[in-house]
Amino acid sequence: RTASAIGTPKVPNVKWEDIGGLENVKRAILDTVQVPLVHRELFTSGLRQRSGVMLYGPPGTGKTLLAKAVATECSLNFLSVKGPEVINMFIGESEKNVRELFQKARGARPCVIFFDELDALAPARGASGDSGGVMDRVVSQLLAEIDGLGENTQDLFVIGATNRPDLIDSALLRPGRFDKLLYVGISPDPTYREKVLSALSRKFDLDKDVSLGLLARKCPDNFTGADMYALCADAWMQAVKRKVHMHFLSPRDIFFIEEDDSTVVVKQEDFFQALAELKPSLSLQELAKY
Ligand code: ATP
Repeated sequence: RTASAIGTPKVPNVKWEDIGGLENVKRAILDTVQVPLVHRELFTSGLRQRSGVMLYGPPGTGKTLLAKAVATECSLNFLSVKGPEVINMFIGESEKNVRELFQKARGARPCVIFFDELDALAPARGASGDSGGVMDRVVSQLLAEIDGLGENTQDLFVIGATNRPDLIDSALLRPGRFDKLLYVGISPDPTYREKVLSALSRKFDLDKDVSLGLLARKCPDNFTGADMYALCADAWMQAVKRKVHMHFLSPRDIFFIEEDDSTVVVKQEDFFQALAELKPSLSLQELAKY
C-alpha cells in the first residue's frame, strides 16, 4: 500500500461518550492536543510544544478509539497508517511515500496522523544486524518528517499506538517526537466494565430489567473493551433473533417488519447468554506483562 492508497483524511465520528472509563487518559490527551489548539495565544512564546503522543497497553483497550475521539472532539482530520504499512512503503518504493503521507497530512491541517502498531518498526535501529537496512531507513525517514513538522506544530499531531512499548526505538520517544507516553489499559474493578458496557450500549433499547452493574460484576476481571464490544454485539444479535422468531414464521417474512415494530429490545438474558459463550481474549498472565 502506498501513501496515495492511504485514503483521504477526514474528521472521524467517535464521541467521548463512546469511550467508557479511561478518564485520566482522556484528560491527558485533551491537555496535549486541545489546549494548544484552543488557546493558541498562550503558546506564541515559551517552549516548542510537545505534539506527539504514544498510547501503549494491551490490545483491544481503546487506543484507536481514543485517537479518533480526540480528532472528532477537536474537529481534526484523521489519517491512519499501520506500522507494517510504513515498512511496505519502503520495500521496493522510495522514501517518497512517507514524504507523501506527511504532505497529505499538512494539506489537511488541522490533522492527526495515527500510527498504529508502531512496534512493527522495531527492531530498534542498529540492533539485530539490521543496521543500514530497511528498518534503519524507515525510522530515520519517519524521524526526519516528524522533526520537520516545524516550529508551528499546533495543528499537526502525531499519535502512535503499540502493544509492545519495550520494542519501540528510543529515538521515536525523544522530546518533540512521540514524547508523551500514555498507558491505556483495563481495570479489574467492575465499575470500569460498567462504564465500558454503558458506553457500548448507549444506543441500545435496554429492557427495564437490565442491570449493567450486575453484568459488569459477572464479567471476568480480565475482560477488555474489545471483549465487551463482542459481548454487546452478541447480546444484540440474541435480541434480534428472539424478535424474528417470536413474530415471524419464516425468514422470508422478515421483509414485512412493520416500520413501528423495528425496535430491538435487549434483555438481561441476552447479555448473559452472550457472556456464557465468550472467553476473555487476554489471559491474566498476558495482562500481567503490561
Ligand atoms: P489494538 O492494540 O488491538 O489496536 P486498541 O487498543 O487500538 O487495540 P480499539 O481498536 O480502540 O483497541 O478497541 C477495539 C474495540 O473495542 C473498539 O472498537 C471498541 O468497540 C471497543 N473498546 C475498547 N475499549 C473501549 C472502551 N474503553 N470503551 C468502549 N469501547 C471500547
